[in-house]
Amino acid sequence: MKLDSKYFDKIRVKPGEERTVRDKHPNCEWPGCTRPGRHKAPKGRNQEGQFHAFCLEHVQQYNKTYNYFDGMKDDAVRDYQKEAQTGHRPTWKLGQNSSTMNSAGRRAKPGSFRDPFNLLGEGEESKRAGTSARPVRNAELKALHTLGLDEKATKEKVRAQYKTLVKRLHPDANNGSRANEDTLKAVIQAYDYLRSTGFC
Ligand SMILES: [Zn+2]
Repeated sequence: MKLDSKYFDKIRVKPGEERTVRDKHPNCEWPGCTRPGRHKAPKGRNQEGQFHAFCLEHVQQYNKTYNYFDGMKDDAVRDYQKEAQTGHRPTWKLGQNSSTMNSAGRRAKPGSFRDPFNLLGEGEESKRAGTSARPVRNAELKALHTLGLDEKATKEKVRAQYKTLVKRLHPDANNGSRANEDTLKAVIQAYDYLRSTGFC
């Protein structure tokens, strides 16, 4: 008699045991698949702790297309991705003064590095038009000195110098060292002041 393997398996397993085996490994949940679902796959966001059961082939296929963000709100996704980008490190920030009003009366966002390079693009070009004739105030002169400039500096020169200094002093350019933090803070405050007075 030829041994049909299906029949052979069946007669070797007692009814009780057969049932136990099936409970332990439900069939693969992939549509149309009848292999045992030995591999668990997370169901996804908001269903944490719940799993699909798949065979090896289908768990791999599922994992390839599995989207953790399914069902997440957009802002939650954005926050998560933002955190992922910074590696969940605290972002570098200036000292405590960074959250106080700056000289222009704008509230600096705490923990953020304020727009050092593109200079806001608020149409500042025309701001100082016609102001070069007025005398330079003492506080402006002091701010210019902080930037390594003198009263003859043009607004373009001030901006260029500011960009250069920020680049040079920023921790990102110094392997994360904050040794220049006080200098950088002074440079930013000086520049903020010169902007607030319309000097640049
Ligand atoms: Zn399967």
